[in-house]
Amino acid sequence: EYQSICVPVTAKGKYRGCLLLFQDVSKTLEGEKMQKRFIADASHELKTPIAVIKGMVEILNRDNFDDPQMEKEFLTQIESEINRLDGLVKDLLILSRLSLSNVLLTKEFNDMNEIINKAIQSFKKQINEKGLKLVCDYQYQSPIRCDAMKMSQVIINLLSNAIKYSDQGTIRIQTYRENNFFVCTVADEGQGIAKENLDKIFHRFYRVDDARTRSKGGSGLGLSIVKSTVEAHGGNVEVDSELNKGTKFIVRIPL
Ligand code: ADP
Repeated sequence: EYQSICVPVTAKGKYRGCLLLFQDVSKTLEGEKMQKRFIADASHELKTPIAVIKGMVEILNRDNFDDPQMEKEFLTQIESEINRLDGLVKDLLILSRLSLSNVLLTKEFNDMNEIINKAIQSFKKQINEKGLKLVCDYQYQSPIRCDAMKMSQVIINLLSNAIKYSDQGTIRIQTYRENNFFVCTVADEGQGIAKENLDKIFHRFYRVDDARTRSKGGSGLGLSIVKSTVEAHGGNVEVDSELNKGTKFIVRIPL
């Protein structure tokens, strides 16, 4: 789409013609559309748990309410909705900071294996509780130039998904060098993703199985944070998955 501006050209007080300027605004409009869509989606995501909490509090607050068992159930559900809101707001903040500071990465030489090991620590309990196995194979040992905090978030998001969407099997984390790229892969033997959904999983708020993943506490923002971060580093992220077999995410960062 174009925006046009007409500028009259005069010389010595006489009208000599006009200059037509055309500006391609499709990118700006596209950006605006995306932003509006994002705000609409975010509001919807925030509204749903708020509506649930509101409804339950209203019932609990009724003068004639007297059902201790229902009260307990409602409070448990309210707590889980609040946790969901908390996670959603955290992810929204991370995303907005990313889009503000795409160019403001604090790049330093960091040992990615160390970053991965730290991320693993916080998931050890969950991995054990689900009876999953974790195998690390670090073939790339040198430090790479990256933003440690943001890359740590990438690993945390991929690892938490691998755990969330697996009920058995091994989670494998590998690092290696491929041409001029540092590569990190996170693979699981979980539920997998159907082919027709593979290109959508990086979209903001997209969940393959809305009801089921919602109950797992996901915000639908984890992978879009991964993609934005990796691309801000000049890299890319790919997914390879087979339904009921497992999923592998491949993150490449240029060296
Ligand atoms: P969520 O917070 O819902 O996990 P993400 O952006 O992290 O959101 O992921 C988007 C969707 O992609 C998830 O809802 C899930 O359906 C699918 N997905 C992501 N990682 C995996 C995985 N390791 N195995 C199976 N499905 C996955």
